[in-house]
Amino acid sequence: MKKEDTSILTDTFGRKHSYLRISLTERCNLRCTYCMPADGIQLTPKEHLMTADEIFAIAKTFVSHGVTKIRLTGGEPLVRKDFAEILEKLASLPVTLAVTTNGVLVPKFLSLLKKHQVSVTISIDSLQEQKFNQITRRSYFQKVWDTINLLVSQNIVLKLNVVLIKGFNDHEILDFIALTKNQPLNVRFIEFMPFDGNRWNKTQLVTQKNILDHILTQNFQTDIIRLQDAPNDTARNFRLRDHLGQFAIISSVTNPFCDSCNRIRLTADGKLKNCLFSASETSLLETLRSGASIIPLIQKAVGKKHAARGGMDTFEKLNDPDLHTQNRSMIKIGG
Ligand code: SAM
Ligand code: SF4
Repeated sequence: MKKEDTSILTDTFGRKHSYLRISLTERCNLRCTYCMPADGIQLTPKEHLMTADEIFAIAKTFVSHGVTKIRLTGGEPLVRKDFAEILEKLASLPVTLAVTTNGVLVPKFLSLLKKHQVSVTISIDSLQEQKFNQITRRSYFQKVWDTINLLVSQNIVLKLNVVLIKGFNDHEILDFIALTKNQPLNVRFIEFMPFDGNRWNKTQLVTQKNILDHILTQNFQTDIIRLQDAPNDTARNFRLRDHLGQFAIISSVTNPFCDSCNRIRLTADGKLKNCLFSASETSLLETLRSGASIIPLIQKAVGKKHAARGGMDTFEKLNDPDLHTQNRSMIKIGG
């Protein structure tokens, strides 16, 4: 007889959550239009944010129940003054570590990231300086580009995240793929997702189908190789023949991957979100501070996880602003 899985991190659909994404901060040195609302955000007072010790205590609980991978994100995780301390603490746990960053401050932390074999994902939405500045509302293109070259020169395995927006940067798809010709880069095209305050509109969406059609119309038909995706991978992976690197498509809007989801999220203010799209949250920090156990709360939150996209299982529901604006803005969730 099959043994029932009673782990607190297994949900009612049998999905085991082994991947914790921790947002370290709501702050950022960029202002990407699709992430940060135009009129900014109300920052949570510092005393309501997790300290380094609290992050470690919560992470340790998750690891003792089966988490094997932790990603640090934000906001921009590297703007946090105690980033090095947090990373050192988490590195003492038996997990693989990853960071998603805009790349601006990576050189400052390079030796630390190398020391703990942290895999790095850098977000860059345009290879054209003026467009990059337009979408980030800041002028750091050269710094980000230098960081990418620095990491490649150090043989650090690097992923690049590119959010595609119709009519803005979708003409750069092939330019991004060209980066993978001679470099072991993994370029991931992400469908633009709706969150509170980002003025999402379905007409701006560049879908997985649009991306593949675009490549095919450029006469690369015989050259696209579909790669085997890793278990629980949110991306569908491809490579062009004779290219050293690869590209991928993350199609959370048109083709979600909820069936195999193993992710769970912790916001900078210590709230557990069982899904990126879920409006419901569970405060672990308050309970931790009261001295009580957070384990029952984790179990309850995981148990409440919807089958798909926080309950917005159809495109129509995701497209409904009354539903997706109940969630936080992306910068306050942690991507
Ligand atoms: N500051 C870091 C960075 O930019 O990589 C980490 C946080 S950011 C919120 C994490 C990822 O979420 C980035 O790759 C960003 O492009 C992506 N992201 C933010 N808003 C998004 C949206 N509306 N749709 C799709 N991806 C989004
Ligand atoms: Fe900052 Fe990253 Fe959001 Fe851009 S995507 S505003 S870099 S947190």
